[in-house]
Amino acid sequence: MPTKDLYKLSAEELNKGFVRGLFSAEEIASHFLDRINSIDPFVNAFIDVFSDIIEKGRKLDERRARGEAFGKLAAVPISIKDLIHVQGKKTTCASNLMKEYVAPFNATVVEHMVKEDALLIGKVNLDEFGMGALGANSAFSITKNPWDTSRFAGGSSSGSAASVSARMCPLSLGSDTGGSTRFPASFCGIYGFKPSYGSISRYGLVSFASSLEQIGLFSHSPEDLKLLFSCINRDCKFDAQWKKSEVNTGVNRPFKEVSIGWTPDLFDESSQEAAQCVNKAVQQLQAAGAKLVPLRPYPLSTWINAPIAYQIICCSEASSNLSRFDGIRFGKQITKPSFADTVSATRAKGFGREVKTRIIAGTYFLSSMQKKNYYSAALEEVMRLKELYRNIFNKVDFLLMPSASSTAIPIGTKLSSKERHYLDVYTCPVNLAGLASLSFPVLLWENGLPINCQLIAPKGHDLHILNLANQLKELFPVMEPNMDLSK
Ligand code: GLN
Repeated sequence: MPTKDLYKLSAEELNKGFVRGLFSAEEIASHFLDRINSIDPFVNAFIDVFSDIIEKGRKLDERRARGEAFGKLAAVPISIKDLIHVQGKKTTCASNLMKEYVAPFNATVVEHMVKEDALLIGKVNLDEFGMGALGANSAFSITKNPWDTSRFAGGSSSGSAASVSARMCPLSLGSDTGGSTRFPASFCGIYGFKPSYGSISRYGLVSFASSLEQIGLFSHSPEDLKLLFSCINRDCKFDAQWKKSEVNTGVNRPFKEVSIGWTPDLFDESSQEAAQCVNKAVQQLQAAGAKLVPLRPYPLSTWINAPIAYQIICCSEASSNLSRFDGIRFGKQITKPSFADTVSATRAKGFGREVKTRIIAGTYFLSSMQKKNYYSAALEEVMRLKELYRNIFNKVDFLLMPSASSTAIPIGTKLSSKERHYLDVYTCPVNLAGLASLSFPVLLWENGLPINCQLIAPKGHDLHILNLANQLKELFPVMEPNMDLSK
C-alpha cells in the first residue's frame, strides 16, 4: 500500500500495518494531518486538530523498535466530538460560552482509548451541547456534507460523521441522545452505532439529557465499530449506570438463525426515501437467507408521540444539567455588579438560541403547575414504548427501521415544526427505551445521496448486533462520496 493511500485503510488495517512494520505511526499521523489540512477547509468538521500526534506517533515507533507490545488501537487516528473531555485540550461544546474551557481530566472512554494506544487526532464540530439534528446550531459554523458541501452533514455529531465520511480519520466518537449518531451517519452514508444505555461510560461526556444519551461510534465498517466498542465497553467507577454489555449465547449466531422484524404498515405514511430504503434492505437480507418477519400493525402513528416525549424529557434534563454554566462554575463570565446579573448576562451572551429555548421550555415543563401535564405524561409514553419493544422482541431478535426520512438537506432550508418533529421520529424512540441500534448504509437515492436503515436490538445486545452486521457487511458496503469539494 503506497503511503499516499493510507487514508483508505480501516482502523484494523492501520493497526495491523503498523504492528507488522509496514508503515510507522509517525507516517500515519502526518498522513492524516495532511489530509485534514487539504480537505477540512471545505468540510469544517474539526474545531481543534491535535498536531501533537506526530510526537505521539514517534513514541509508538520507538516502542516498536524496542519490541514492546501494543494496545488494540495502536496508531489508529480517532476524532472526538467536542463534548467529550480530553485532558489539557479544549471542550467547547460548540458554544460561545465554553470556547476557552480546557478539560481538567480525560473522559473514561478517552482513558480507555489512550490505554489502547489510539492517536487522538482532534475535536470535531457539533450542534451546541448536542442540541440539533443538522449541525446548524454550532458556534463554529456549519459542518458540510462531504457528499455535497451545499448540504448539512447531519447532527448533532456533524463533525464526527463528516470526518469519517471524508476519510480524515477511520473512527470517531460522537454522542446520541435522540439520534445524533444514527442520523448524521445516514446523511453521510457511513456506519453509526448507538450502544445500549449504560454500556459505555458517560463520565466526561458533557451532560445534556443524562437519562437518554450514550456515546456513539462512527466508522466505515462494522469490524472497526466492534474493535472500538470492545475497547470502551469497559468499567467506570464514576458512572453508576455503566454495565458490561451482556455476552449472551446469541452473540455469535449465524445470520440465517436470527429473525429480523420489519413494519410494512409504517410505509403508508412515511417518505418514499425511507420506504425504499427499508424495502431494499428487506430484499437483500432475504436474498442472503435471513429470516425477515413482517410485524403488523405498526403504522407511523405508533411512534408519532415519541418525539414529543423526547423533547419534554431532554429539555427538562437540559434545564437542570446546564444550570452549571453560569460563568462562576463553568463558562466565560460577563461580570456585573450583582451575582444574579452576572449569571444572567453570562448565559444570555454565551448560549445560542436553541440552547436557550430548550432551557426555558424545560424549566416550564418541570414547574409544579405543569409537571403532570408534561413530564409525567412523557414518562408514561416511555413506559408505553418500553412495553411496545418488549412485545416486538418477544417475536423477533432485531427490528429494522429507517434511520432518517430523507437524504441530506440543503444548508439554509427552513423546516416547518412538523418537519422538525419528523427528523427524530425514527431515532429517538430507541433512546427513550435505552436500546442499541446500528445505522448502516443501504441506498443511493435518485439525487445521488446516501440513506441508511437502522437495526435495533434489545438493551445489552450490543455485541449481537455488531456481530450480525459483520456477517452482513458485503450486502451493505459503504459508498464513497466523490468528494467534489468545489461547491
Ligand atoms: N435531534 C435531537 C435533538 O435535537 C437529537 C440530538 C442528539 O441526539 N444529541 O435533540
